[in-house]
This record gives sequence, C-alpha cells and structure tokens, in this order.
Amino acid sequence: MVKQKLVLRFPSTLVEEPVIYSLVKDFDLMVNILRADINPKKEGRLMMELSGEESNFRRALEWMQKKGLKVMHLKQQITWQEDRCTHCGACSVICPSGALVLNRPEMKISFIEEKCVVCELCLRACPARAMETLLDNAR
Ligand code: SF4
Ligand code: SF4
Repeated sequence: MVKQKLVLRFPSTLVEEPVIYSLVKDFDLMVNILRADINPKKEGRLMMELSGEESNFRRALEWMQKKGLKVMHLKQQITWQEDRCTHCGACSVICPSGALVLNRPEMKISFIEEKCVVCELCLRACPARAMETLLDNAR
C-alpha cells in the first residue's frame, strides 16, 4: 500500500480528459484532491493524494506520463524559510488550517507542517517569499 502526494500538470489538450475517473476505475486507486486549477483550453494543475496498491500506483504513473501529463511528487509540501521571514503575520491571517500561527506576545510566526493542507495561499501572501513549495519529478 502506498500513499503519495502528487502534482499533475495537464497540457491544454488534456484538461478535459477524465483522468481522475480512470485512476479510480482502471487502477483502483483512492484520490483525494487537495487543490485544482483547471481552466478549459489552458494548462491545468491538480494537487492530490493518491493511495492504493503499489503495482497499481506504478502502472497509473506510467499511464499518466505516457498520456503527456507531467507528474511531480509533492516532496515536502510547503517549506518555511525562517531566515527570510520578517514575522509580519500576513500568512497567519489567511492560512485556513492553522499551520501558520502568530504567537503572542512575542509576535513571532511558527509553522506547524503537519497541519498544512498545501493550499498555497501563503505563497502569494508572503511579501518576503519565505514560503516555498518543493516539487520533484515522479519516477
Ligand atoms: S499552504 Fe495553506 S495551509 Fe499550508 S501553510 Fe500555507 S496557507 Fe497554511
Ligand atoms: S507572510 Fe512571510 S514574512 Fe510574513 S510572517 Fe508569514 S512567512 Fe513571515
């Protein structure tokens, strides 16, 4: 049994393909969608957690890559570069999961990685670019 977080990048020609349906039906995998940015006729991006038997998982990866999807592992989800952080607190206001917390009275930010749901809102909100996503090509 494997469970992995992946990011799929779809070329515009594939955004309307029923990829999730195939992953569930043809490969017997469980799909938990974490985030989707899909627009008709444009490149799309899907962040998800896939789980199931390892052989099915491997076959599904191969199938997606053959179809022309770019598949990347979401290796470490979101990382916080503490040295760049100015503790302005902007991220703690928009973080929906409580992963970024402004501690009082010190007014210092903490990042609780286990609570992060990889919504990426903090990446856009952080003026110091202290929040990053790490991706790695799937093999
Ligand atoms: S990615 Fe989303 S959940 Fe994770 S720390 Fe940033 S805002 Fe919070
Ligand atoms: S928005 Fe960026 S600089 Fe501000 S507290 Fe959050 S991580 Fe630090």
